[in-house]
Amino acid sequence: MEIMPNRLDRGFFAYQEEFENKALEVLRSGWYVLGKEVEAFEQEFASYIGSKYCVGVANGLDALILAFRALGIGAGDEVIVQANTYIASVMGVTINGATPVFVEPDAQYGIDASQIEQAITDKTKAVLVVHLYGQACEMDRVCEICKKHNLKLVEDCAQSHGATYKGRMTGTFGDIGCFSFYPSKNLGAFGDGGAIVTDDEALAAEIKVLRNYGSEKRYYNKVVGVNSRLDELQAGLLRVRLRHLDELAREKQDIAQRYLNELKSPYFTLPTIREGAEHIWHQFVIYAEHRQQLIDYLKERGIGTIIHYPIPPHLSQAYAYLGHQTGDFPITETYAEHVLSIPMYNGMTAEELQYVIETLNAFEI
Ligand SMILES: *Cc1c(COP(=O)(O)O)cnc(C)c1O
Repeated sequence: MEIMPNRLDRGFFAYQEEFENKALEVLRSGWYVLGKEVEAFEQEFASYIGSKYCVGVANGLDALILAFRALGIGAGDEVIVQANTYIASVMGVTINGATPVFVEPDAQYGIDASQIEQAITDKTKAVLVVHLYGQACEMDRVCEICKKHNLKLVEDCAQSHGATYKGRMTGTFGDIGCFSFYPSKNLGAFGDGGAIVTDDEALAAEIKVLRNYGSEKRYYNKVVGVNSRLDELQAGLLRVRLRHLDELAREKQDIAQRYLNELKSPYFTLPTIREGAEHIWHQFVIYAEHRQQLIDYLKERGIGTIIHYPIPPHLSQAYAYLGHQTGDFPITETYAEHVLSIPMYNGMTAEELQYVIETLNAFEI
């Protein structure tokens, strides 16, 4: 049996008719950028998340870039961020000229809240949390620290659409929540897309201006903005997927539950769930002592896996200028050496799931 780590086609075929109808509707409408689909999606997504405002942008990285820009964070400022994230989180900070200050993650791969305070300096302006793999960070402690030190809080929710912490959606804890709708995300488009959510009317208005060349009114430009718009086709298709997001999340939770109940091996450990968090399983990430052997073994048996992520940002070539070295963030580096994402996608069949479980459990060195 051939099992890929993700199957985007299954997500399409599950609602094929609805997607196709919406695509045709948008194509036939004659209106393709910033129109009624984007407006409707922004309203529906804000209401789903429980935020007052949503502004669609072109992708998740732009959501982060524009969030920090709107917050006025740039050269000379520091932003505290977990070291074990996808590099785009960090780029959202550095493209604005600000400096990332890394802290280690905790056992659930979120920022280790107990390490934040010692990273604060007089230049610290914000904390960026990443709800990695679909599970919220320890938000009550993070919020308390940000409040105490008067820091802005930005949430990278690119992997956490619909994930909650103590009953509250990720994206609603901070000043701004940043989402990606890259096709593989839990709320995926059929191309690139992104959005910010916020309760702050001024921030939402500012990002709306920035995403469209800095203009509120066409051809009257207030600031030097960017072109970062969500298009009508993606917005329309996202509206279709959003209607099914809760059932899609439940399906992934059922798969995760089978993995948690039935995977048993001395060669890897399973992910744990934070108290108070509802995990939406963007990825199901195991920790394997002998990872390469396990990857090769699975590959020989037709099972694909992915490493999220093999090189932490502080050791990537792009951030060599920050001057970090191997050993600076040992927990992050250990995760990078041992984490492995196993197949987890909507539309996974019972047969596929059974095969992955049996094959993983039979692994021996
Ligand atoms: C996907 C992702 C991003 C970037 O989103 P794009 O839409 O690909 O630009 C940022 N942060 C995290 C954690 C991600 O997973």
